Amino acid sequence: MFSNIGYVTRQKYVTKQIICIYNYMNKENDEKLFKRFKFFRPDLPITDSLMAFGFECGDGWFNLIWDLCEKIEPLVDKDFNVFQVKEKFGGLRFYVSSTTDEVFNLIEEAEGKSYKICEKCGKPSKVINKNGWLTTKCC
Ligand SMILES: [Zn+2]
Repeated sequence: MFSNIGYVTRQKYVTKQIICIYNYMNKENDEKLFKRFKFFRPDLPITDSLMAFGFECGDGWFNLIWDLCEKIEPLVDKDFNVFQVKEKFGGLRFYVSSTTDEVFNLIEEAEGKSYKICEKCGKPSKVINKNGWLTTKCC
């Protein structure tokens, strides 16, 4: 299971370098978040963090993720680590190391909001079924 995850993400990473088929935030936004919030650890091996691959969702969720990070930053200790941030079934997924209920609730709240925000442009949207794929992209 674990090696399978590694394979898939590596494949996506290669794809990102060639053509942007998958949902990825642009590198500038990745860097802004990495610089500002120390709990993103793209330097860690992929068994501990997949952030080296960047944020696996569209730029429309940048503000949502930024706001969430500002809220959780004062509540976490130095061991707190974000494993992966991605889109799944039209919603944000923010996977972290173990933490408090307060932080998990904030994450859940942001994940809930993501279903009403276009992942691409950030405007209000809703989950749409596009050829069997659930997405919040309005454009
Ligand atoms: Zn849109």
